[in-house]
Amino acid sequence: MARAEKVVVVGGGPVGALAATALAKAGFRVTLVERRDDLRQHEEQELAENATDKSASKRSINLALSYRGIEALRAVGLDEAALKIAIPMHGRLIHMPDGTRRFQRYDETDVTNHINSISREDLNKLLLDAAAAQSGIEMLFGQQLLHIDKAGRLHFAKTASVGSGTYNDCAEGDLVIDDADLILGCDGAYSSVRESLTRLQSTNFSRRYISHGYKELEVRPDEKSGKYKIEPAEALSIWPRGDFMMIALPNLDYSFTCTIFAPLEELQSLSEDADIKAYFEQNFPGIIPYMPDYVDQFKRNPACRLVTSRVDPWNLGHKIVLLGDAAHAMVPFYGQGMNSGMEDVLELMETLSQHEMDITRAIPAFAVSRMPRGNAIADLSLDNYMEMRSHTASRLFLLRKRLEGW
Ligand code: FAD
Repeated sequence: MARAEKVVVVGGGPVGALAATALAKAGFRVTLVERRDDLRQHEEQELAENATDKSASKRSINLALSYRGIEALRAVGLDEAALKIAIPMHGRLIHMPDGTRRFQRYDETDVTNHINSISREDLNKLLLDAAAAQSGIEMLFGQQLLHIDKAGRLHFAKTASVGSGTYNDCAEGDLVIDDADLILGCDGAYSSVRESLTRLQSTNFSRRYISHGYKELEVRPDEKSGKYKIEPAEALSIWPRGDFMMIALPNLDYSFTCTIFAPLEELQSLSEDADIKAYFEQNFPGIIPYMPDYVDQFKRNPACRLVTSRVDPWNLGHKIVLLGDAAHAMVPFYGQGMNSGMEDVLELMETLSQHEMDITRAIPAFAVSRMPRGNAIADLSLDNYMEMRSHTASRLFLLRKRLEGW
C-alpha cells in the first residue's frame, strides 16, 4: 500500500481546516498553511484592544449550515459541537412589501428537518481548534502561497496584517515546502493552487461574474430587552422584491446579519444619504425601525461581487487536487457553497478509504467522480439566478424561484 507521508493543505478556511483534521485522523502527516493570521489569536488581541471600549461591536457574518456540511462534520466528530453554536432555522419568514409576514415551515411533518445559522468565524475557529488538537498537524499562519513549481515545491511569502486584510511584505522565498506528497488547494475562489495547476498542465478554467452583488448589514439586539428584534428568530427572514431581495439570519448574540442581493451597479451607485433613505423607504420600510443606523451601515460596508467558476480537471495526477471554492466557486442562491465544499472533504476521505489510502489511485478517482457533482450544484445555483433574471414578467414566478434555494 502506497501511503502519503505528507499532505500540504493550502488555505485554512472551513474546507481546508476540515480537510486537515480528516486527513490527520486517517494517519497522514499534514501541514496546513494559511495566508491570514490565526483567527483564534486575533480574537484574543481584539478582546485586549477593546477592553477599554465596551461599546465596540464586531460585525458577525453568518451562513446556512445544512445536511451536506453536517454530514461532513459528523465524519470527524464535530457535528454536535458545530450545532451547539448554531441557531436552527425551521422555515422562511417572508416579509411582504405591504408589511405582512408569512412563516413557511421547511418541513411540516418533521420539525427536526431544518437548516442552521452559524457564524463563519466561529465555525472556522471550531475547525482550527480541532485541527490544532489533532496530532499529526502542523499549522502555519501568515504565509501566502505564491506558486507551485514544476518539481512540486510550494513557494510562500510572509503576509503582514493590515486591518482585516493582508499584503505581501517579503519577497518570494521565505518558505519553500519541497516534500509534499499531496497538495490540497483549499484556498478559495481566487485560488493560487488552481493558478499553478493551470500553468503546469492543460487546464480549462472559466470565471463568471453575475450582475448582482451583495451588501451585508446588521440588526443589533433590542436595546431594552437585549433580545432579538425580529420574531420568530429561528427562521430565515426574506424580503423578496422582484429583481432583488434582502435576507436575514440570526446570530447567537441576538443580532441578525442582513444581506441585500441586488444589481451591483445599483448597490455601488447608492452613496448619498437621501438616495439610501429613499431606497429603504421604498423597498424595505419594515427594517428601518430595527436598523436605525442603516444609512451609516450602508455607506460603511462594501458592495461585493458574486462569482461562479469552473475548472477541469480538478487535479494534477495524484500530486495536486482542488476542493471547496477553489474547485467550484458558486453564487449563493442555494446556500450550498461551503456545505458542498465540506462534502468534497467527506467524499475525498471515502475515496481514500475505498483505495486503502493509496493517493496514487484515490486522488484521480476522486477528481473524476466529484467534479460533476460539484459543478452540478454550482450550475443549479447559477440557473436559479438566471431564471430569476429572465422571468422578470412574473412576480409570483420570481418569488417562487427566489425562495427555492433557501
Ligand atoms: P474560503 O472560505 O474562501 O477559505 C479559503 C482560505 O484560503 C482563506 O482562509 C484564505 O485566507 C486562504 N487563502 C487564500 N489564498 C491563499 C494563499 N495563496 N495562500 C494561503 N492561504 C490562502 N455557503 C453555504 O454553504 N451556505 C451559505 O449560507 C452561504 N452563504 C453565502 C453568502 C454569501 C454572500 C457568499 C458570498 C457566500 C456564501 N456561501 C455560503 C459560500 C461560502 O462562503 C463558501 O463556499 C465557503 O467560504 C468556501 O470555503 P473554502 O474553505 O473553500 O474557501
